[in-house]
Amino acid sequence: MVYPKYIYHNHKKHIDMSFISQRIERLAVSATLAMSQKSAELKAQGIDVINMSVGEPDFDTPDHIKEAAKRAIDDNFSRYSPVPGYLSLRKAICGKLLNENNIEFTPDQIVVGNGAKQELANALLATINPGDEVIIPTPAWVSYVEMVKLAEGVSVEVAAGIENNFKITPAQLEAAITPRSKMIMLNSPSNPTGSVYTYEELKGLAEVLAKYPQILILADEIYEHINFVEKVHSISEFPEVRDRVIIVNGVSKAYAMTGWRIGYLAAPLPIAKAVSKLQGQYTSGASSIAQKAAEAAYTGSQQCIEDMRLAFERRRDLIVELAKEIPGWEVNRPEGAFYLFPKVESYVGKIKPDGSKIEKVADYVMYILEEAHVACVDGEAFCAPGYMRLSYATSDDNIREAMRRIAEASAKLK
Ligand code: PMP
Ligand code: GLU
Repeated sequence: MVYPKYIYHNHKKHIDMSFISQRIERLAVSATLAMSQKSAELKAQGIDVINMSVGEPDFDTPDHIKEAAKRAIDDNFSRYSPVPGYLSLRKAICGKLLNENNIEFTPDQIVVGNGAKQELANALLATINPGDEVIIPTPAWVSYVEMVKLAEGVSVEVAAGIENNFKITPAQLEAAITPRSKMIMLNSPSNPTGSVYTYEELKGLAEVLAKYPQILILADEIYEHINFVEKVHSISEFPEVRDRVIIVNGVSKAYAMTGWRIGYLAAPLPIAKAVSKLQGQYTSGASSIAQKAAEAAYTGSQQCIEDMRLAFERRRDLIVELAKEIPGWEVNRPEGAFYLFPKVESYVGKIKPDGSKIEKVADYVMYILEEAHVACVDGEAFCAPGYMRLSYATSDDNIREAMRRIAEASAKLK
């Protein structure tokens, strides 16, 4: 390995951006986490900020799950776990996939990691070669495009607006497919839109994909349990594509366990093996204690999911009703997750009380943070300029107060 000379000759050399790899330089900062950090900083200064930027349940992890983690500590689950996770947890995940999703997986097809986020990145790193195209229906979660970049793939965005409830059509999908297409990333219920593809809509996409057997389907189902429809369907229900689906899911959202960092992928065996190999060189198995907690989540009572789901549904109704009253906002009715994704483009061009102009939605979002002390995220981070995202995973009182403040601040724009 060749080190820069000055490391030896000049210890005072200032470390600047030239030391950073191009790989990381090309990467964008996660806008959701950045905005949440900014809101935490303002809070630390004593400003009463309502944080609607980050998407995580505001509930505490259910007690029976916390108890399992405490037991795991006492029972000395303190050593490295197998790289893909404890067999007992992988069996519990197979049980969940069979009982809830009616798909049969064996434990060697499951890899548990540090959150669904790691498993999405792993799936891409394990399958994408430089130049391979990854189709991403947009609006899409902030990390998808960046993860594709890390894997040296090329994102092919397929956009759907609020007029289509943010869902792409089979014709749009087919038009995006090229000989270089290697994967499609599907996320239903969706972050940031809360949209849920119906059985018929998924069937339409599956019928197109059936014609292109070289395309893998990465199904991010992390919001599966947070939905307000009769039944959430998975693309893996369709036999014509089932053997090419990589399911990613985890305990973060359903069980209010974002900080425990446990997610998994369920994949065709060669892909699961490749991901395990990657993880073995990169991070090893996920936290032993958190894995035991996740096992309790999957094998214990599922009532906690329903309790939280009901709270999210009530809040969805509340925020939609209040958001519709804000002049210039175009709002739809999300059917899952805990996000509202209004079109707020009409505020671009307006003048702030200090005389400066709102040039883009990012300025409007910043104005709302500074004037109304409500933190949201610019839609551009989700490949959807003209929109913004509000997470309603917060109390009903916070939702009411946030919407009152946003309405008041917006009314001052001329
Ligand atoms: N996918 C989507 C769409 C998400 O919103 C999140 C939450 N950040 C994740 C994956 C990752 O979840 P986690 O890593 O906490 O399991
Ligand atoms: N999924 C959440 C969000 O979109 C968590 C933050 C993140 O990991 O991006 O806000």
